[in-house]
Amino acid sequence: MTLVHLGLGTNLGDRPANLRAAVEALATLGTVSACSQVWETAPLYVTDQPAFLNMAVALVTTLSPHDLLARLKRMEDQLGRVASVRYGPRLIDLDILLYGDVVMDDEILTLPHPRLHERHFALAPLAEIAGPCLHPALAASVETLLGRLPMADDVRRIGPLLTL
Ligand code: AMP
Repeated sequence: MTLVHLGLGTNLGDRPANLRAAVEALATLGTVSACSQVWETAPLYVTDQPAFLNMAVALVTTLSPHDLLARLKRMEDQLGRVASVRYGPRLIDLDILLYGDVVMDDEILTLPHPRLHERHFALAPLAEIAGPCLHPALAASVETLLGRLPMADDVRRIGPLLTL
């Protein structure tokens, strides 16, 4: 059993409904042990698109890293994601942020997520449920990494998923 932290993002359609459907689907992969609140964040990289809702989920699972990634990709398809430009709009995006203390890098999967430490939209929700957890490659906690980022006024907490 491994404690895994996932990042969820959506900026198309009924965004809270997309997150709810994703959390429900994730519960089929193990035990969902914690959910962050929902954050609304401005799009990065491709800025001419709707704002994202982001959240982080803790999952206890027996799936290996590659099996988990394959299941997440299939789940994105089942939840209605269609291929788009890199960093473009998406119905749902499911990323593995941390897989226990595993550090790995191959053509398919990089752990921890290679851009976790530079993304406010991933670190802010993650810090709510895993602040003291160590990023195993950077030897710094999630809250420390978040504190190193410049302040962002376009990343704001909008409340628990159940209230949206
Ligand atoms: P996406 O941003 O969802 O379009 O993901 C693009 C690709 O990133 C996936 O197909 C994965 O093969 C790759 N990838 C590498 N590391 C990760 C990770 N930690 N979590 C999710 N996807 C990853």
